[in-house]
Amino acid sequence: MFRRDGMGDDRVMAGDKDKQKEGPFDIVIVGGGPAGLTAGLYGGRGRLSTLVLEGGVLGGQMVTTDAIDNYPGFPQGVTGAELTGLMEEQARSFGCLIRRETVAAIEIQGETKTVSTEQGHYEGGALVLCPGTEYRKLGAPGEKEFTGRGVSYCATCDAAFFRDSKIVVVGGGDSALSEALFLRKFAREITIIHRRDALRAEKIYQEKAFAEPKINFLWDSVVQEIVGDQTVHKVIVRNVKTGETHDVPTEGVFMFVGITPRTAFLRGVVDLDEQGYIVTDEACRTSVEGVFGAGDARKSFLKQIATAVGDGATAAFAAEKYLEERER
Ligand code: NAP
Repeated sequence: MFRRDGMGDDRVMAGDKDKQKEGPFDIVIVGGGPAGLTAGLYGGRGRLSTLVLEGGVLGGQMVTTDAIDNYPGFPQGVTGAELTGLMEEQARSFGCLIRRETVAAIEIQGETKTVSTEQGHYEGGALVLCPGTEYRKLGAPGEKEFTGRGVSYCATCDAAFFRDSKIVVVGGGDSALSEALFLRKFAREITIIHRRDALRAEKIYQEKAFAEPKINFLWDSVVQEIVGDQTVHKVIVRNVKTGETHDVPTEGVFMFVGITPRTAFLRGVVDLDEQGYIVTDEACRTSVEGVFGAGDARKSFLKQIATAVGDGATAAFAAEKYLEERER
C-alpha cells in the first residue's frame, strides 16, 4: 500500500506523450458529492493516498440544495453550499487531494486501474465510483429548445431569473416539492403539474406545499408541449383522465420528473442494473475486484445525503481492506 503521511503531495510519476500519468494512488474516487467527499475523508484519515476527481461542481446535487433539514447534526438546517464546504474542508484536512477534472474513461487490467480525464491518467489501487445522478429530461416538445431560456433543472441556480414570475414545476416527488418550496421565495405563483392525484414526496414537503398560498396543483396532468418565442410563454397541459388539453401561461418550467444515474462511462466496466445504477453488495463492492460504488448512482433503497455519506464511508473502508488483503 502507498501510505502517505504528508498532505497534498501529488505523485507525478511519469508523463506520456500527451498527458501526465500520476499515481499510483491507493484510492481514486470518481465524483465529489457527499459520497465521494466522505470516501475521501475516510481514505485520507486512513493514511491512504486518496484522490477525488470531480468534473462538475463539488458537492454534486447537494450543493444546489437550498435548505437541508434531514442531515443529522444541523438542527437549524444547513444549506447545500455550507455542507459541501465543510465536507471538502474535512476531507482536505486529512490529506485527500481534490482535482476538478471530468473522468472520460476507466480501464481495468488485473490489479491496475486507470482513470483517464482530459488532463491525465490516474492509477489507483482501488477505485470508488460515485458519479451521482442527474435530473431526467421529460422529452416534451420545446423542452430542449427552451433549456436555459425558461426551462430549468436547478432551482437554486435559476430562481433569481424568475422573481415575481408565474412558473410551473413538473413532478410530484421530493425534488419537485422541495424545489417548489424554495422557488416560492422568488416567484409570484407556482403551479405544480403532476401526472397523478397523489404525491410521491415525503409528507413533510406535502404539508408545507399545501400550506403555501403561492403554490397550487394541477393533478392528473402532464406537460404536452412547451411554447414560446425567445423565452417560454406557456405550457400545453393534457389531463390524463379526460384527454383534454389547455394552456397554462408561464414564464418558467422547472422539471423534476426523476433522476438518472450518470454511469454511461461505466458501461462494460462494472455491472449496472437495467436503469444504469451500479450494482454492489452490502460492502459497496462492484462486480470488479477492487472497484466500489457509492452514493446516488449505486442501486439502493434510499437516496439521501445521509445514505450517500454512509456509502462513502463503507466503500472507503472496504477499499482499505481490499488493499490490505492484496498486500498479504
Ligand atoms: P422521483 O422520486 O423519482 O420523483 C419523480 C416524480 O416525477 C414523480 O412524482 C413521478 O410521478 C414524476 N414523473 C416521472 N416521470 C414522469 C413523466 N414522464 N411525466 C410526468 N411526471 C413524471 O425523483 P426526485 O423527486 O427527483 O427524487 C429522486 C430521489 O432523490 C428520491 O429518492 C428522493 O427521495 C431523493 N430526494 C430527496 C430529497 C430530500 O430528502 N430532501 C430531496 C430531493 C430528492 P409518479 O409519482 O407518478 O411516479
